[in-house]
Amino acid sequence: MEPTASVRNKLEQLRRSLSTAAHAYYVLDNPIMEDSIYDQLYRELQALETQYPELVTPDSPTQRVGDRPASQFSSVNHNIPLYSLENAFNLEELSQWQSKLLRQLNLEELAYVCELKIDGAALALTYEEGILTRGATRGDGKTGEEITQNIRTIRSIPLRLNLDSPPPRLEVRGEAFIPLITFAQINAQRQAQGESLFANPRNATAGTLRQLDPKIVASRNLSFFAYTLHLPDFSQGDSLDYLERLGFLVNPHRRLCPSLENVAAYYQDWESQRQNLPYLTDGVVVKVNDYQIQKTLGFTHKFPRWAIALKYPPQTIPTRVKEIIVNVGRTGAITPLAVMEPVQLGGTTVQRATLHNADRLAELDVRVGDTIILQKAGEIIPEILRVIPELRPPESIPYQMPTHCPECNSVLLSDPTRCVNSTCPGIVRGSLAHWASSAALDIRGLGEKVIISLVNNGLVKSIPDLYQLTVTEVASLERFGTKSATKLIEAIAQSKTQPWSRVLYGLGIPHVGVVISQLLTEHFPDAERLSSASVTTISSIYGIGPEIAEAIVAWFSRGDHQNLLQALEAAGLNLQSVNIAPKTQNLAGKTFVITGILPNLTRTEAEALIKQGGGKVSSSVTQKTDYIVVGENPGTKLAKAQQLNIPQISTDDLLKLM
Ligand code: NAD
Repeated sequence: MEPTASVRNKLEQLRRSLSTAAHAYYVLDNPIMEDSIYDQLYRELQALETQYPELVTPDSPTQRVGDRPASQFSSVNHNIPLYSLENAFNLEELSQWQSKLLRQLNLEELAYVCELKIDGAALALTYEEGILTRGATRGDGKTGEEITQNIRTIRSIPLRLNLDSPPPRLEVRGEAFIPLITFAQINAQRQAQGESLFANPRNATAGTLRQLDPKIVASRNLSFFAYTLHLPDFSQGDSLDYLERLGFLVNPHRRLCPSLENVAAYYQDWESQRQNLPYLTDGVVVKVNDYQIQKTLGFTHKFPRWAIALKYPPQTIPTRVKEIIVNVGRTGAITPLAVMEPVQLGGTTVQRATLHNADRLAELDVRVGDTIILQKAGEIIPEILRVIPELRPPESIPYQMPTHCPECNSVLLSDPTRCVNSTCPGIVRGSLAHWASSAALDIRGLGEKVIISLVNNGLVKSIPDLYQLTVTEVASLERFGTKSATKLIEAIAQSKTQPWSRVLYGLGIPHVGVVISQLLTEHFPDAERLSSASVTTISSIYGIGPEIAEAIVAWFSRGDHQNLLQALEAAGLNLQSVNIAPKTQNLAGKTFVITGILPNLTRTEAEALIKQGGGKVSSSVTQKTDYIVVGENPGTKLAKAQQLNIPQISTDDLLKLM
């Protein structure tokens, strides 16, 4: 297929941004892009170049290892190039790599040596008659810099090999690195002196090795793990052992893996354990152990075919914004969302990310067609970190927030952008979802899809409508039958037994979360008293400030909200605390312990009931406990009670006892 102008454009853009990034990374030791972003863009470039091989240019980053050094040191030609490593980003890619090798070699299985991939800089050390005579950086793989004086300062590099009759010449390769603690110290010192900080230990290592003053290098506490020895007929495992005997520091966490399953286990082990290492690793390196097989496989122009770096999953990843949409929340807030090309991040597929609000959107300046960097904040929520400006399509324009609600078309208010039409389907759906959520009325089966269906079919326009629904109406909806409709109607009816605190929380009053609603219901046993309370009275409750109190008063002062409360009361919901004042003192002398979430009473209500019945409530289980009241998700108290054979009861049993 003939490449279009847009393909040529894209290739040029990718090459330009990757070359700029590689220069900043390899030559200036000052990266301008996250590694995972570089890797992803690099793969895009590779894919396009594979599709259009005629467009590959010799200066493309895919054609080079590292970058040409631009320093004051003299150049060194590597007679065996210092290659880069092919990357695999997950176990599936690793297994594809092995399949290719097995096919090529006509073998059933291969044995590997796994090593940690140390985030440092590769060095080539030359020993003549057992004496270190030259040390060089990798450079562009073929030409490096001679930095022998600096290398001599690294204590873990022997100046003389531990051999009685050393060969005339021996080359050892490995990774120089800066331990994490030293890295932190160097950066703290640089900060104190107003100097720019190193982005990561790898750049700090490379930057240090290029210092002209060996005294500075010596002060930086570099270390070195040896991993390659150019001796024929030595397997990788034997080379590592031999290097140790020669006096090198060899990473102790290497493992001989007889099959790919063992490699996978090694990778998984280190993915979690790497946190405890005193140096940074960014993956594991998998090398075919057998020397003859290594020789048969050979090298590409960039890397050995017999080794691969299996990198840890990135915390950040680039993707492209396909569309920006807005969502109407239950409070009417208009939230912009980026819809992106799906990417794998931290084990899940991500295709949407919130842009929070108009201000945040303007600050990020995310536009349709932009390539953005996505990260998982707190491991769960995908967040857009920034745009990559170099990859912005020339025709893109800044996103404008809508002036009318996308759901009900009413004019939106700004600062913050919001819809104030309480019958807006977006607001209604959001309110229903909140009402049905597990911390509120906990209506099983009333999920997002069912809510959309109920609202779109005009069966529900507000919360009280839920309580008028009939089995026939629900059964008429798509994906429902009589049985499932009956179940939903039962679950809705069941919600009428939920306590006043959950009803209050379910109303979705701004700032009133689970804790505040508990506090409020402890002080205001019914909706009527709460409705007529003043800001001063409400804010006198410990834990509730004036801002929240004002929001509560404002909410209750609205006529439509009062109508809602009346409709809910008429539907049979608890707008007051359950107050069963026992006539008897049946619980007198008995000690109760409560564990778990009680189905229809709050903790406080249950405790109050027990006390009214003459009983005592204790917080821990002992021999003296008479009953344990067990709710959902009970804690360790239940196990203790079982050990002591203490009778377990439900809230229903408790009410019966009374
Ligand atoms: P690499 O870092 O992916 O792998 C090769 C290197 O791994 C070797 O040269 C060696 O230094 C090191 N290594 C560590 N432990 C090893 C072991 N046990 N055995 C063998 N080698 C070991 O490849 P690279 O060519 O050095 O760099 C490419 C990578 O650098 C990219 O994938 C990217 O992540 C990063 N990079 C980032 C930017 C940026 O702007 N952030 C720019 C260019 C490159």
